[in-house]
Amino acid sequence: MGMVRVLVVGAGLAGLACALEATTLGHHVVVLERSSRIGGRGTTQNLDEFPMGYGPHLFLKKGPFHDLVRKLSRVKLAATPLRLHRTELIGQGIVRPSEDIKTALTNKRILRDANHEHPLVEGCQFLASWGGQANELRYTGLQKSQLMVSNEGWAGMVGRLAAALDEVGVFIECGPEVQRIEQGKVFLTDGRDIETDVIVLACGPSAAKKIAGTMDEQRSKDLFSPLKRISASFIEVGLDSKSLSGKHAVIDTQNKYIVLDYRAIQPRLGREGSHLSALAIGGLESDPGETRYATANERLDALKSFLDKRASGWQDHVIQQSEQSKITLHDAGTSRIPQLAMADVGVLFAGAWVEGEHILADGAVNSGRLAGRTIAAAKR
Ligand SMILES: Cc1cc2nc3c(=O)[nH]c(=O)nc-3n(C[C@H](O)[C@H](O)[C@H](O)COP(=O)(O)OP(=O)(O)OC[C@H]3O[C@@H](n4cnc5c(N)ncnc54)[C@H](O)[C@@H]3O)c2cc1C
Repeated sequence: MGMVRVLVVGAGLAGLACALEATTLGHHVVVLERSSRIGGRGTTQNLDEFPMGYGPHLFLKKGPFHDLVRKLSRVKLAATPLRLHRTELIGQGIVRPSEDIKTALTNKRILRDANHEHPLVEGCQFLASWGGQANELRYTGLQKSQLMVSNEGWAGMVGRLAAALDEVGVFIECGPEVQRIEQGKVFLTDGRDIETDVIVLACGPSAAKKIAGTMDEQRSKDLFSPLKRISASFIEVGLDSKSLSGKHAVIDTQNKYIVLDYRAIQPRLGREGSHLSALAIGGLESDPGETRYATANERLDALKSFLDKRASGWQDHVIQQSEQSKITLHDAGTSRIPQLAMADVGVLFAGAWVEGEHILADGAVNSGRLAGRTIAAAKR
């Protein structure tokens, strides 16, 4: 197969993974990213020594994201697992209490049997899949201490992908926004146009739907209609106190709250104190399921009240804080979109909303790599 010109829209995990794969196969790749930085939702920014992220992030050990990062780097990636003997499910207590071997063993068996109606199983599935569609790989991963926190934050992991791309000479341009596609030409909002053979839309489903719609509106509408996004509110705080009393995580399955203490999971992350990352999932009118909040701000406030109860006094100890009332957590519910649905017009899709066995970041990376390997199928 000869060299194909590939234009990747979006420098999130899906776009970066696709660019790496396609370049390795000898294609000529350009990545365009609308925002000023790469990484999309899967990254962190360093505020002083706190790597502030977009809410809590755990990666699956040896999952597609971790695998790719490991493969690229000469320096070993240090990471620490979330542990069930330091995880509390509200109403159930610590999942595997170390001081109560009998309960720990009983709970272990309950989790292995995976009866979905058991509150312990429900809580762990909720934690493993971040309130999305249950995922076997992550659920068993959680039980085997394979859901990890990276010691360098997700920014470090994204940085390794970026460094690898830089090494092979892939050009990532931050700033331009892709607006429409017409006869193999991509038009940017700044007035420029770029000619290409294959376009990979790795820009999240709403932008992908819009851009694909400029080629064929009805087709794009039909294609994207089954997607059901799940949104979340998050708050991240660096505190100079230990607020979760050493616990790695506290989960409220019923109200769909998750709070992690990165510092408890990975003590080497920095000085004394804690780094709480909390998430309230779903519950808006636009989310699937029951509506529990009138606005996203109301959800964020409810999450703060939850923290008031679980990490009392946290507000008096804040060193750094970042929050957002609404961000897309899951790009798709139970149904997803085939990667090759528009391959006949030279367009491939990549993201966690594309069909595949993985979810979240692993879904994004895996579909990105597959897109990179499938370039030839889309060449018009
Ligand atoms: C709060 C939160 C917690 C999460 N926790 C976890 C977790 O614990 N584990 C896990 O595995 N995953 C987690 N995820 C999910 C994970 O972050 C995402 O699945 C993954 O980052 C999605 O990658 P992506 O490349 O598909 O999309 P994105 O990261 O959204 O990247 C899309 C990129 O495209 C760009 N773009 C959009 N439109 C255009 C345009 N028109 N032109 C050019 N560029 C454009 C955007 O700026 C963006 O950079 C979490 C997500 C959130 C929000």
